[in-house]
Amino acid sequence: MRSNDFDLLVIGGGPAGMMAAIRAAESGVRVLLVEKGDQLGRKLLITGKGRCNITNTKSWGEFSTHIHPSASPLRMAFRHFSNSDTIDFFNSIGLATVVERGDRVFPESQKAKSVLNALEKRMKTLKVEILLSAEVKSLRFEDDRVVTLVERDGIGLENYLSRNVIVATGGLSYPQTGSTGDGYRFAEMAGHKIERCFPSLTALMPQNYNEELQGISLKNVGINLFIDSNLISVDSGDLDFTDGGIEGPLGFRVSRKAVKALDNGGKVEISIDLKPALSLKVLDARIERELTALKLYPHKIDKNQLRRLLKELMPVSLINPFMESNKSLSIKNLSASLKDWRFKIVSYVGYRRAVVTAGGVSTDEIVVKSMQSKKEPRLFFAGEVINLDGDTGGYNLQIAFSTGSLAGASAAQQILKSI
Ligand SMILES: Cc1cc2nc3c(=O)[nH]c(=O)nc-3n(C[C@H](O)[C@H](O)[C@H](O)COP(=O)(O)OP(=O)(O)OC[C@H]3O[C@@H](n4cnc5c(N)ncnc54)[C@H](O)[C@@H]3O)c2cc1C
Repeated sequence: MRSNDFDLLVIGGGPAGMMAAIRAAESGVRVLLVEKGDQLGRKLLITGKGRCNITNTKSWGEFSTHIHPSASPLRMAFRHFSNSDTIDFFNSIGLATVVERGDRVFPESQKAKSVLNALEKRMKTLKVEILLSAEVKSLRFEDDRVVTLVERDGIGLENYLSRNVIVATGGLSYPQTGSTGDGYRFAEMAGHKIERCFPSLTALMPQNYNEELQGISLKNVGINLFIDSNLISVDSGDLDFTDGGIEGPLGFRVSRKAVKALDNGGKVEISIDLKPALSLKVLDARIERELTALKLYPHKIDKNQLRRLLKELMPVSLINPFMESNKSLSIKNLSASLKDWRFKIVSYVGYRRAVVTAGGVSTDEIVVKSMQSKKEPRLFFAGEVINLDGDTGGYNLQIAFSTGSLAGASAAQQILKSI
């Protein structure tokens, strides 16, 4: 075998590509992993705010409700390499894990770097060859091999030969980590259809966004999403107001539907319920009690007195922006306003700061039991490049690990059969 000649070439050194390379090398094939960045796993390192939420322990029944646009193309990959396989795998390569709130799994070290280190060590043991600062430019499929054109820093263009190739180039989000949509181009070259991409798990920008809101985090609030005035979803949890608008776990949970609707020209509104545990009636009674305690009379309350009352009902930092956006606030409509603080959403931050890309290589054209292309038998796909995305909570990395493992194992099996 020439030095540029491999059994399998994996494009992309993210979690999907690394897992694919490991699985294939475990089967005994010679693997080259090509990564355009100067290090592997740049996005992996920023996952879970640097702590890396590896997976989620929910059973498939519940897990699958967090996968979009449909979980069925993931079912076989998940069966092949499930969330518990992910935990066992990492434990077996020396990475201890812990389960936290919401069934989310993290490394015990609380450091994404230790996840990357464990994967790198495993690849080294298995003698996976790695090219860094090497950008795949194009793929050419011949009868018995794939010719991959790679541009290497300081070296120039080189051709690499392999029997099979796995595209694990990620999506379009956080392009500074290397995911710039190259895989869609490679898929299109092989005749694949790309489902329209849009950023998911991103901040939603309200109309006339009050800068005073920036930096405020709300715990246990409710959120209702309205599209074209129809109530689409009801949820509760924690929400952050940032420079990008409404985000945090709760904001992210509604962002997929909101972004899609905005892109389609829909009218999007978010209603925040500051008191989700109290009905209007119970909240009215609570307000009465607060008024009595403050010795205030509801029929002759002025703005300053209203402020004093609000101090008992919300964080102080929220009072100004709340009063600003509820200009006709009075004792009469106070409870309704607390339970239905409306924000008209006019835009979103986008790929620059989206956790994940929705859309991608159509799953209709991928054999779901092997991750092999239906268009080109030497081509396989893994990870975010595929039209699969998950909610926050470890679902996206599990997509990467399940599809990466399946693509690596199937691509290797096909090679071994043909030798
Ligand atoms: C801020 C943030 C936090 C997140 N936190 C979590 C979390 O805690 N849990 C979770 O489950 N998910 C999380 N995610 C999502 C998760 O990181 C991604 O879904 C996952 O990394 C996708 O893996 P991937 O291997 O498919 O793609 P990527 O991780 O994007 O890797 C693709 C790789 O391919 C390389 N590449 C691209 N084109 C080429 C080319 N032409 N030649 C060579 N190399 C190329 C890129 O440089 C990149 O390294 C987070 C995402 C972000 C942005």
